[in-house]
Amino acid sequence: MAQLSVDIGGSPGVNCRGFCEYCYFKKVKGLQPLGCRYCLPFKKGCDYCSRGIREEYAGFKDLKTIADETLANLQRKDGEIERITISGGGDPSCYPQFTDLIELLGSMEAPLHIGYTSGKGWDDPNVGDLLIDNGLSEISFTVFASDPGLRKRYMHDPSPEVSLQILESLCEEVDIYAAAVVLPGVNDGDILEETCEWLEERGAKGIILMRFANATGQGLILGNGPIIETQDVQSVESFRDTITELSRRFRIKISGTPLWDPEIGSPFAILTEPHLLKKLPPIQQRASIISGSVAAPFIERVLAERGFKSPVVAVEKEIACLITAEDLKKVPLTSLEPVVILPGRAFVHESEAYDILTSDGIERLIVRGPEMLTADAETSMGMTHNQVLRIEMEGFAQLIQTINRYGQR
Ligand code: SF4
Repeated sequence: MAQLSVDIGGSPGVNCRGFCEYCYFKKVKGLQPLGCRYCLPFKKGCDYCSRGIREEYAGFKDLKTIADETLANLQRKDGEIERITISGGGDPSCYPQFTDLIELLGSMEAPLHIGYTSGKGWDDPNVGDLLIDNGLSEISFTVFASDPGLRKRYMHDPSPEVSLQILESLCEEVDIYAAAVVLPGVNDGDILEETCEWLEERGAKGIILMRFANATGQGLILGNGPIIETQDVQSVESFRDTITELSRRFRIKISGTPLWDPEIGSPFAILTEPHLLKKLPPIQQRASIISGSVAAPFIERVLAERGFKSPVVAVEKEIACLITAEDLKKVPLTSLEPVVILPGRAFVHESEAYDILTSDGIERLIVRGPEMLTADAETSMGMTHNQVLRIEMEGFAQLIQTINRYGQR
């Protein structure tokens, strides 16, 4: 069984009928690459960290290009196609030949999955039937709020009633994972409860709530903050409490990012599984581990169970995968061991990290750690508890191997 990914191209905001008020791509600045895990050792900057993370593509691909690429990909796959996923920088609902695209992919008779859409490109209620008739099985749909006025005001959806009508019709037949960036004072509180109730009554599988970030420390990169001047931001702890409270009140799955998935207990669900913690290899060496401020205390607790004695150093940035060279510049170097392990996905070129983390004249070895230690809510939404635990076991086993291989006594 094989999966097929269909990239339709496009850029956020540009191919989305304009930017949503809260879109993180709205104010992306700077042409300098950040550096990342894919860069060559001698060159900071590659296609991914220069262009890919900005999701800058030259508009949507035309239908013929998509068809040719899909056919070429198909020829490289063995066996039956178990799923076709539509992705891209632009919003699929805004693809100009959307009907032709869906009919083309539907003719392959495999379940269709739309990785992300805001639905604001759909003005015709018949789109729901088109999708169902062509085998849509799963969709992640940004609802923002079940109040059409708020969709119009904050997402600039020209036909919010139609988008919600389509969402409603899909709920009956398809696995719907709704999503909403939560703006305090706008779509939180009673509005959020109404949205959860609306989705639950219509049969959605769940809703992923995303805490809005408006400053660099909260996870913004590429100089793109503040996204909305004067917009309040909820603390991570208060956001986690909101998720806990909502999931007590509703039957649909409610999870949040950066914290948390109450049904699974993630991120770092492994902390409540002592028998699994014992299966991780013992730690024999010392090394400094750098992480984001949200994950660091969790990582420290997991590693302490296997005998880790060094501190896990939390940078100011809350999200480890969004750490940049600027965050490393604020790390107190006196606290570092001779070996430093960076988050696998951090947007830092290793030679630049070396220059920053040895700028006190003390030699240190800089190593990149595993890409994933846990699953955030976007990853865990369609997963089981055991699938998340497997990710965590693999991630921590790899991290411990890195500590034992490169660390010092
Ligand atoms: S639909 Fe998504 S990518 Fe497009 S502008 Fe809105 S938030 Fe940004």
